[in-house]
Amino acid sequence: MNKNYMIYPMKNMRITCRYDEGSHRSHNINVSDNNIDYPIDDAGIDSGRDSIYCPCDSMKVVAIRGIGNPSITNTIWLVSTNEVITPGFVDKVYMTLTHSDDSDIKDLYVGKEFKRGEIICKEGSNGTNANHIHITVGRGYCDTWIENSNHKWIIKGDSKKPEEVFFIDKEFTKVIDNRNINFEYLEEEKIDIIGNPVERDIYKDQVEVLIDNLNLRESYSVNSKKIGYIRKGMYDIKEIRENEGYTWYKVENYYIASNIGWTKFYKKEKYPRLIFTCTSSGKYIIYLKEGSKLYIS
Ligand SMILES: [Zn+2]
Repeated sequence: MNKNYMIYPMKNMRITCRYDEGSHRSHNINVSDNNIDYPIDDAGIDSGRDSIYCPCDSMKVVAIRGIGNPSITNTIWLVSTNEVITPGFVDKVYMTLTHSDDSDIKDLYVGKEFKRGEIICKEGSNGTNANHIHITVGRGYCDTWIENSNHKWIIKGDSKKPEEVFFIDKEFTKVIDNRNINFEYLEEEKIDIIGNPVERDIYKDQVEVLIDNLNLRESYSVNSKKIGYIRKGMYDIKEIRENEGYTWYKVENYYIASNIGWTKFYKKEKYPRLIFTCTSSGKYIIYLKEGSKLYIS
């Protein structure tokens, strides 16, 4: 993944309670103060306990509460270390995870950092009856909670609905039950097609691109950044380099690697070539002014 997209953090989505259902209703409906959040419960795969994965490039643990204390339900606060791209905004995000068992999170500590795809914890049954994870998300930073006017403990931050923060990456998450929450799917990364081909100019070294999917790169190396694909057609060559077994041409502002079948090289000609096409029998006469030259190759 090239960009820091925020994706749903579980491999199996099986939402068992929306933010506007059951005990979650009093988190955000008929709340007389402004203390609301939008939790969902996800029970993951039916058997066993599913994992919750780091959903963006990097997140850091900023608070942990409840471990070893039976009167407080285990909850972990994580904040992204950089801005992430969500369906609703680009900013830092927080995520909280509630109900993991003591044994699963005993090694967690404030400051621990997770990279994309690493397991943070598992669903559990701490403070509840059946294995699941209670997830909230929001924009910016958050490391605390508060009891609201409905006597619910809610995560105290700029709370967002999960569909405003998570994309679903269908390569990662299997949607078993989204409980009719309309999540946005992560689009395939778009590949740009770049280049404005020119006419053949016999006074210039040029290269013709023959295929549709030739990579255009920032520099003359297969390890340099891929800018996109170059459009088929003729291009002026600005620079020629040899590297990694390829002849590289700089065209426009970037580089392509040449190869038989991909590209065709046209060397500049010293003099223009005259082509005579006979359309009927007869004589052709070329009149030259004094001092003019005629080259025939
Ligand atoms: Zn819940």
